Amino acid sequence: MIITHTIVCLTCETKHLLKVTLGYENKQHHTFPCTECEEDIQFGIENLPRGEYRYIKNCRFEKFKYDEAVQVLLHPDLAVGHKIVPAGDVVTATLLNVKEMSRMFKQSVPEKLKQHRSEHQNMGSQKLRFFLKVWSLLRRNKSSLAQEFVLKNYNIHGAKMHADINTYIEDFLNHFIGDFGLKVYEGLEKEWAKSTNKKSLIDFNKIQEVDEFEVFEEFFDLYTEFSQVYLYLNGGIEINKKNSSSSTDFNKTKKYYSSAYEVVAKLLYIPAGINNIIERGDANEFKSLKSLEVYMNNGNGNKLNCFLNNEELKYPKECYDNNIRNASFHNHMKFNAKKSKITYTKNNNDVEHISYQDYLILCVKISEVLAAYKLFKIRCL
Ligand SMILES: [Zn+2]
Repeated sequence: MIITHTIVCLTCETKHLLKVTLGYENKQHHTFPCTECEEDIQFGIENLPRGEYRYIKNCRFEKFKYDEAVQVLLHPDLAVGHKIVPAGDVVTATLLNVKEMSRMFKQSVPEKLKQHRSEHQNMGSQKLRFFLKVWSLLRRNKSSLAQEFVLKNYNIHGAKMHADINTYIEDFLNHFIGDFGLKVYEGLEKEWAKSTNKKSLIDFNKIQEVDEFEVFEEFFDLYTEFSQVYLYLNGGIEINKKNSSSSTDFNKTKKYYSSAYEVVAKLLYIPAGINNIIERGDANEFKSLKSLEVYMNNGNGNKLNCFLNNEELKYPKECYDNNIRNASFHNHMKFNAKKSKITYTKNNNDVEHISYQDYLILCVKISEVLAAYKLFKIRCL
């Protein structure tokens, strides 16, 4: 279903007809550049499908005929691209949605992921938010409140009942990971099965204090941006790179990558330790470093190097990027909303570009690595 709103840009008075597709969420927030002056316009609606608007910025509502205005197509879950269409067009929005859906259904999903998703299905973020709330209560030692919350809500979200309340954290992680996270997790499990001196890593893990929760909480605060690529990645569906993301709230998401990267860096003792056990019989035995403790105190940029020769452990290489981390953390990124493109400075001062969509994909993938490592910690360490 597509709903329409007529708005006028406060900066340049250009009329826009917004065509917003209703997705899985009951609220949507979009940021996009004005088609004329390119200043950011924000548009947020809540209580969908009835749809009351709750938040607008740099625009006002005004009544005018649909054919007087440039149209902007917004979709919360799909990259449908070509978001600006001329006034009067009545078919493009629906057509793009239908085309994209049929492209998605035609894709073949890896068998393992199909199996995984059938047990851990997501339709939007509702169920994930439910698990995350349980986790939030548990980490503040409110387990009886968590029990009550589960009893009251599990039915609404189609979650399973568990005797052990802590299982909901595993549920969250299993639902969160997609094709990429699953590979990361299974790689760890495979190599762990080969490991002999497991105790050396289990002992080291006991003295580590890492809080993985807050990054996921941040992720779901920003979900209306990530949702544009998340459901593709979660379902193992290739993203059509010709289509860009329609909401481009880079101000909100620019810091996220560095937050997730930092926590992943704190967990890299897991693949490093497993690799050491396989190659030298002890989690602490590196080729040149003295121990896992020394490894953890070293800079984060080179932390993957020690296990990159292991095919099952090296997956984070795809999304663990120290240049992006530093640009994200130190605010060395410039965003061109109209082109949906980020320009950033690398550590060696070279200038590099990345599309906003690719940035969102990196953010989701690094979060999947985090989920996979946390899941492994719970189950094996
Ligand atoms: Zn404008």
